[in-house]
Amino acid sequence: MKTFAIAIHGGAGTILKNIMTAEKELEYKSGLEQAIRSGEKILASGGPALDAVEAAIIQLENNPLFNAGKGAVFTNQGKNEMDASVMEGKTLMAGAVTGVTNIKNPITLAKTVMQQSEHVFLSGLGAMEFAEKMKLEFAPDEYFFVQQRYNQLMDAKQTDSVTMDHNDKKTSGKDKTGTVGCVALDVNGNLAAGTSTGGMTNKKYGRVGDSPMIGAGTYANNQTCAISCTGHGEFFIRAVVAYDISCLMEYKGLSLKQACQVVVHQKLVALGGEGGLIALDAHGNIELPFNSEGMYRASLKANQDLFIGIYKV
Ligand code: ASP
Repeated sequence: MKTFAIAIHGGAGTILKNIMTAEKELEYKSGLEQAIRSGEKILASGGPALDAVEAAIIQLENNPLFNAGKGAVFTNQGKNEMDASVMEGKTLMAGAVTGVTNIKNPITLAKTVMQQSEHVFLSGLGAMEFAEKMKLEFAPDEYFFVQQRYNQLMDAKQTDSVTMDHNDKKTSGKDKTGTVGCVALDVNGNLAAGTSTGGMTNKKYGRVGDSPMIGAGTYANNQTCAISCTGHGEFFIRAVVAYDISCLMEYKGLSLKQACQVVVHQKLVALGGEGGLIALDAHGNIELPFNSEGMYRASLKANQDLFIGIYKV
């Protein structure tokens, strides 16, 4: 029987139960559920994995709890500069944007780059010019402003640190949020992956993380798997995390589970890279590994119960 499956993440980091309020936990869980259900709806009606990925990520981008779209973290200069990428496993087509501001849903821009431009990766002003030409929705600075995010920037500036959204122990789990991503398998056996983020608080000099980089933060190939990462981007770029998992499956014959174990719990740890990822193979197997304290995550398969997790189990 043809099946479908979907998994999402809302960021990884120091997410500790003892500093999370019950109320906040509920908000995160309902944000995750709302997002995954919108992807599920598309998959259940026979729609493509790519559309499910976009739909789920739009929900997370529109939710100020997560570090993507509305609620994106602030750069050193007090701006919300966002990155996003998508990839389709059947065609190996991909689209990505980096350093865009005022784009309501960067994931839709990444998908539009993939489908309607001759390029894969657009940056800054050029990407925004393309968005305008494609008549995508823009939003004013105020739309993206979230007070807690601004407080995080003020804190990070005090120590001149560049921080991952969940790694401020003072506020983690209270008002921290995370990069978002989705992987999906549709009833036609096609995989897709997408990731969207504001990056890291207090980032400077046009810093780009792993999220918009195909192969590092996002990858999909029907022959192997679909991956979306979250964590300290510099390490994920150096470890080419998403593609490495696919390669271990393709060249070494590892299962999805084995490949995730090697990359997240061995290779990344050896480099000092903190974070995690969501992974899905063409058979509908799902893995949600992370080497941090926690990762906001959810997954479901056709006719099965929804799983939602935040902490290590
Ligand atoms: N990977 C993202 C980046 O480095 C941050 C995150 O996942 O929280 O830009």
